[in-house]
Amino acid sequence: MLRFIVPLLALCFTLPAHAASDSYIARLLNKPVPGGVAVVDLGPAAQAPQASYQGKPVLVVREQDARWLAIVGVPLTVKPGSQQIIAKTASGTRTLPFVVGSKAYPEQHITLKNQRQVNPNPDDLKRINIELADQTRAYRTFTPGTPSNLLLDKPVNGPLSSKFGVRRFFNGEERNPHAGLDFAVPAGTPIKTPAAGKVILIGNYFFNGNTVFVDHGQGFISMFCHMSKIDVTVGQSVARGDVVGRVGSTGRATGPHMHWNVSLNDARVDPAIFIGAFQP
Ligand code: ZN
Repeated sequence: MLRFIVPLLALCFTLPAHAASDSYIARLLNKPVPGGVAVVDLGPAAQAPQASYQGKPVLVVREQDARWLAIVGVPLTVKPGSQQIIAKTASGTRTLPFVVGSKAYPEQHITLKNQRQVNPNPDDLKRINIELADQTRAYRTFTPGTPSNLLLDKPVNGPLSSKFGVRRFFNGEERNPHAGLDFAVPAGTPIKTPAAGKVILIGNYFFNGNTVFVDHGQGFISMFCHMSKIDVTVGQSVARGDVVGRVGSTGRATGPHMHWNVSLNDARVDPAIFIGAFQP
């Protein structure tokens, strides 16, 4: 009997107080765990409410019945428990709570031949910090407009390899967890943008290699890296399905694969959620 009760309690715990659990978007995207997405019901309003989480603006979309939903990215660093967003409408400002459940992420041990990719030298660190600042700025871009699609297309067709959130050890030393999702596909495979958007940053980075950032609107951002070739330029508008570059193994990579980050309100979240491949 106890066995039966425990999962039920766990389920109740992960249902946020203000989730529009009956909505299509919430059913597909509401995965309120560290590194997941919380869909919070903002209620009906004539004009789009403004929402923020941890001081950062949040993606807001309209539901079919004139209700508004906040699509909140939950950073991997958030501890399970109660969280809140702030929503502003013409009628005032409200605080809306949601509950973050727990998720266990596995470990991965990787061996790199190039020790500098594990312990960069002082010159590398200078470069890494500049590159990190550029990429952080890109992730904090917040442009108006509703994304073309919240359910994303797979950027490449191929099996998933390394999952999001995996705790990674390089040559035995723990580094940042895996902030994206990897697909095992050959070098040269075209990478297609999973939604329409604008190219806001490209670069050749120490860890990420050849990288492209696509802004889908309202802080919903895709990043592709380790590419062998970049096929777009900064400022270029891309339609859903346009090729942004080719799969490669530039930067800190053990071989060719497609690495894809998805970010909401400057929080890297599990891309698997948006392609229907999320595993709790
Ligand atoms: Zn990766």
